Amino acid sequence: MSESAHDCWRPELFPWQKDTWKQLSKYVETGRVPQALLVSGTAGVGKKNLASCFAANLLCTARGSSVISCGACAGCRLVRAGTHPDLIRIEAPETGKAIPVDTIRGLVARLALTSQYRGFRIIILQPADRLNTAAANALLKTLEEPVKQTVFILLSSRPWDLPATISSRCQRLQVPVPSAREVADWLKSEKGVDEPELLFRLADGSPLKAARMAHEGMLAQRQILYSFWRQVADGSADPVRVAAKLAELSLEDVIDWIGGWIVDMIRLRMVPTARVLRNPDLRSSLQVEVERLDLKQLFGFYDRLGQLSLALNTTVNPTMLLENVLIDWGRLKRQC
Ligand SMILES: [Zn+2]
Repeated sequence: MSESAHDCWRPELFPWQKDTWKQLSKYVETGRVPQALLVSGTAGVGKKNLASCFAANLLCTARGSSVISCGACAGCRLVRAGTHPDLIRIEAPETGKAIPVDTIRGLVARLALTSQYRGFRIIILQPADRLNTAAANALLKTLEEPVKQTVFILLSSRPWDLPATISSRCQRLQVPVPSAREVADWLKSEKGVDEPELLFRLADGSPLKAARMAHEGMLAQRQILYSFWRQVADGSADPVRVAAKLAELSLEDVIDWIGGWIVDMIRLRMVPTARVLRNPDLRSSLQVEVERLDLKQLFGFYDRLGQLSLALNTTVNPTMLLENVLIDWGRLKRQC
């Protein structure tokens, strides 16, 4: 069973989750905690955090209405240490892989035993849309025979991909998408981020991705990649050497950044005064880069980038993949 401990997790809500929390609190106050919840919302909006807060609340033996959990009782201490026996986390073994049936069978066997603390038992399962067919069927059987005080919290950014038989047995809860202002304020005040608006834009509106980007110094990495990218374009840098120098960077991020530049170049080619760009800080530079390229070339390159990104989860050598992207880019620029 794939479970992850949350050693340093503290039960704290993101500012944009307050209303959703009220709904969850109401379930507790009225003694009507659903047997299964389906929490949906865009990637990086904090679904897992919300589910963890709810689990902490249910497992706290001294909870009051004003706080998520007391932080001091035995239940809270175990939750914080990531060792509470009645909080079970099930995750896909790897990104893009399905949750196998054996994982759900293991869970069912575990649920057949009595709860260790005679309180709630909570299963946080994500991403719920990655259950394979057999696993979904096994889970369905469990949902059809509810066990008292056992709460399933299914998380998904693609709830439409869940079998209807499962989603129809869940109480639905949608985590709202925060406004750009809300996220910028949060990044600035709580995370000490200097360029919150730019990061939010670069993270495609995902607050947690923006926070990760700030934490990992990704703006500086992106700047380095961008200067190499321009050097390859004007022929002053060798793509093979550049790819070797960039081997430390995550190829997924690199392809994401380059894809973002191409999308902005397409926008600028179509409407030179385009108001919304994903990379507003690079506007004037991208405008120069796009000057002699036509839309067909740009779309062609974007397609090629998409094909290469499909190879990300295979055994292809990432440095060679990046070499190909850069060689193609240099070739394209020399054609014009
Ligand atoms: Zn407590």
